[in-house]
Amino acid sequence: MTDWTDEQAVALLHRMLAIPSPSGAEHDLAGFLAQALADAGFASRIDEVGNVIGHIGLGTGPTLMLLSHLDTVDRPLPVRRTGTALHGRGAVDAKGPLATMISAAARRPRFPGRIVVIGAVEEERLSRGGHHIVRTLPRPAWLIIGEPSGWSSVVLGYKGKIDIEFRARCRPTHSTNPVPKATELAVGFWLALREALGPDLDHGRFHLPAATLRRLDGDVLNAYLDVDCRVPPGFDLASFTAALRQAAGESELNIARHIPAVVASRRNAVARCLSAGIRARGGQPRHVLKTGTSDMNTVGEHWPVPMAAYGPGDSSLDHGDDEHLPIDDYLTAVAALTACIDELEKDESMHPASDPSRPTWRGGGDGAEETSDALPAGRSRADGANRRRGTHPDGRRGPAGPGRRGAIAGLPADHVPARADAPPVHGPRPAQSRGSAGPALVCARVARRRSATSARPARSGLCVHA
Ligand SMILES: [Zn+2]
Repeated sequence: MTDWTDEQAVALLHRMLAIPSPSGAEHDLAGFLAQALADAGFASRIDEVGNVIGHIGLGTGPTLMLLSHLDTVDRPLPVRRTGTALHGRGAVDAKGPLATMISAAARRPRFPGRIVVIGAVEEERLSRGGHHIVRTLPRPAWLIIGEPSGWSSVVLGYKGKIDIEFRARCRPTHSTNPVPKATELAVGFWLALREALGPDLDHGRFHLPAATLRRLDGDVLNAYLDVDCRVPPGFDLASFTAALRQAAGESELNIARHIPAVVASRRNAVARCLSAGIRARGGQPRHVLKTGTSDMNTVGEHWPVPMAAYGPGDSSLDHGDDEHLPIDDYLTAVAALTACIDELEKDESMHPASDPSRPTWRGGGDGAEETSDALPAGRSRADGANRRRGTHPDGRRGPAGPGRRGAIAGLPADHVPARADAPPVHGPRPAQSRGSAGPALVCARVARRRSATSARPARSGLCVHA
């Protein structure tokens, strides 16, 4: 199949929307897609946990992985096609982006390497499918996560997440007894948690932590809190959990889950080629940082390869009752992603001399190289004390940019999780480094500094979106 048409692309997404796939019940959609992929020229299969996987391309070069998810939230919507849009649960998050990936790959069956398209299960829960992919598939040379960015934007990062549970149990006593009651212990813990996160908390800003009290139950004998913390790159988890343990005292504390934040360089090969693909369709590419999480967090922690997230759709419609995707945006995204694949095909790592599994470290001497493989995953050299005081590692206080929701904003104030193979992000780029598999994740502090001094127009800054 070499002539995957716009009509086929629209029909594919329409049929995907018509198959409900709430988290944990993705099998019908996976079965449909396994067949649809085969019909479109892919080799396809469903793996042990229910992910659907399709391969296409000549297979003689590096692998491009296109990873999106099958599941949606469990709130069905009527599926309909109007003159200009497809409506239905998942149109934006993330059946539209997944159909975009399938359609773009179907148009490039003679890609010299291999294109692997994956619809993963349970991304909306605990990313079971994404974790299985990391454990069972070889690391690709390039990775694109299928999530809504809007057809002319590229997502470079997602905040991290920490799920916390607190339980207090107290003996029955008279209410005038001055010993603390369970309710009071819970309130005290919540206040201590907010203080431990830092002086400035904001869910709308990428470089600031924030917390949501998802659940609060209690009386004087028993109290329970369920807290969802969102944290920026470089967040000092060890110091934070130590503060929480101290605040919890004798009460029960459970750090149920920790997902580190992830940030990719806007100059990594994938981000550059996506931008080129967007320009090829007449767009002005924007780089975006998101305050949620995605499978980019899940796999980015393990695979330090050039990566970004991309897909059509307005992410403010995610999980809402008006989830729909304009057909023009969808088809433009398919064309832009196809052009991105063509750009990657020109990449130097296509040549056998460049082994994408062994990216080369190239120091640049400007600070970006502070992220090194000597640092444990999820940690950076960012000074935790500075961070807790809301101070930049370079001593300045406060956010790096205007940071308004949706506005052109400063880059995150902290370092990103350490990666082994960050490229130079300043100064002359060694010719060989263009497109090598290494330049995925870099020091965002340096990127911010560059942004502040850059003569580039504002569009080269990063935006903060929910
Ligand atoms: Zn999603």
